[in-house]
Amino acid sequence: MTLICTGIGIGVTTSIAIGEAYCLQCGRIEAHRRAITPAEVAHEIDRFQQAVLAARRDLSAVREQIPKSTPTDICAFIDTHLLMLEDAALVEAPIETIQSQLCNAEWALQLRRNELVELFDAMDDPYLRTRKDDVDHVVGQIQKHLIGQHDSPVTSEDELRGKIILAQDLTPADTILMRNQGVAAFITEFGGPMSHTAILARSLGIPAVIGVHHATQYLRHAELLIMDAEQGIVLAAPDERTLQHYRKRRDAEQAHIVGLRVLIKEPATTLDGTDITLLANIELPEDIEVTNDVGAAGVGLYRTEFLYMNRAQPPNEEEHLASYRRIVEGLSGIPITIRTLDLGADKEADGCCHDMQPASNPALGLRAIRLCLKEPKLFRPQLRAILRASAYGEVRIMIPMLCNLQELRAVKLIIEELKQELREEGHDFNPDIPIGGMIEVPAAALAADSFARHLDFLSIGTNDLIQYTLAVDRVDDEVNYLYDPLHPSILRLIQSVIQAGRKSGTPVSMCGEMAGTPFYIPLLLGMGLRRFSMQPGSMLEVKRIIRVSNIEQLTEQVAHLMQHLDEENADRWVAQLYPVTH
Ligand code: PEP
Ligand code: MG
Repeated sequence: MTLICTGIGIGVTTSIAIGEAYCLQCGRIEAHRRAITPAEVAHEIDRFQQAVLAARRDLSAVREQIPKSTPTDICAFIDTHLLMLEDAALVEAPIETIQSQLCNAEWALQLRRNELVELFDAMDDPYLRTRKDDVDHVVGQIQKHLIGQHDSPVTSEDELRGKIILAQDLTPADTILMRNQGVAAFITEFGGPMSHTAILARSLGIPAVIGVHHATQYLRHAELLIMDAEQGIVLAAPDERTLQHYRKRRDAEQAHIVGLRVLIKEPATTLDGTDITLLANIELPEDIEVTNDVGAAGVGLYRTEFLYMNRAQPPNEEEHLASYRRIVEGLSGIPITIRTLDLGADKEADGCCHDMQPASNPALGLRAIRLCLKEPKLFRPQLRAILRASAYGEVRIMIPMLCNLQELRAVKLIIEELKQELREEGHDFNPDIPIGGMIEVPAAALAADSFARHLDFLSIGTNDLIQYTLAVDRVDDEVNYLYDPLHPSILRLIQSVIQAGRKSGTPVSMCGEMAGTPFYIPLLLGMGLRRFSMQPGSMLEVKRIIRVSNIEQLTEQVAHLMQHLDEENADRWVAQLYPVTH
């Protein structure tokens, strides 16, 4: 019998994993109350303090073992946990509870955990609310030592190689270490697409299926699992036929990926001679390695939100600059488009926005450029740093979520003021730094001609454009079935933006997921798109498709589709355009 569990799939370069389940933290550590006598208090306190010390030692060992190449932002996750292990709020209260309630250390710690989680839950700030995960991670580490189950992945060397890790949740420290120990994949019960685990899995290139509810109850340690991260499914105890099917798919996927590497130095040129520009979307400084590796022509979208994560204060100008410089210099001369902060909605407003009121409808509220214009102390240091980074390489600024020209004028005014400030302070920067905007709100797409006249480039953000046009929350499982990139409204909007750019001679790129999804590439080529920005892991497959495409033919076919959107089944039509030759 094959058991199927589903969750949110995170596949970057590979999506199929087959391996034995390694059940880490299977079953939550349940603490039970045990009464102790006054004579046992000292011993119980000592047990608790020893467990805290051991948890600290474990985590410090992890900190030591982090490879040099790991982004500092990721190390910050671990530093936060180390600080918590020294925080009186967590490590002193249980001692008082042991004394006053005459109970065991596990129970005293559990009570403190519950109080802290309750405190965090009651907070308005969504960032601080998520900090309860950190409390759980740290408490879990101490509990493991209390019950003598300290089988941290730190200590097991080769035991994890090739295994599919099964856990309720993973700490950032576990995730990093397990990558270094060669795990095949992760399955977690908790976590959404923007959770720490999801972000780390993506940036470390490990396939994962997260948010698989009750996975640790249904799946067993050491049983054989198949994971398809593209589909977000996990199969347990597969029969021989299923296993063969997935082995074939995995082997074909791996052979295909290896085969694609011959394209790294080849141009992204269509059969009939049109050059296409392939750019990378990056989130972490570490992503520059794979961007260089696949031969990207530039970075079309650097999402800067990661810089703001997991910290109580927003980064200052020098921190921004250090990150941007590291990336610009690491990219060996290719241009980079730095997107200004896009916090809000699914990208939770972090600790830097303590005073923000919770929005009744975050996706339509104070997000991205709206938030930045309202909070100059967030926006100005970032813009100053981007301007200063332009002295080190070809840097462009991109503004997310533009909705009207007033916003754009306000941004340009600030940029001019900052240039003046920097001049007076004697800082170098590119005075002609290109300013582009994301077209991801339907209003901006419909007014793309105006934006095209006032911007140096446009970039279509299909992830949000689809969400806002179809009124479908992009992270809500319940309405995901409505999220349709081929809806006639979406196709018309994309086409009109491309045409608006062409009319005014303003380059148009696309940086939403559609641009890196092989299935849509022929359609977008036929619509006239010539600049695609995507996860670097998709780039060689996209290049392969481009190199077997004929623009002239595709233009004709897509023109026909666009005229007959009502009668044609767009899905079937687009499938016919998609070259399946491997
Ligand atoms: C988009 O909306 O398509 C986009 C690229 O931005 P993000 O996914 O970061 O919102
Ligand atoms: Mg967006």
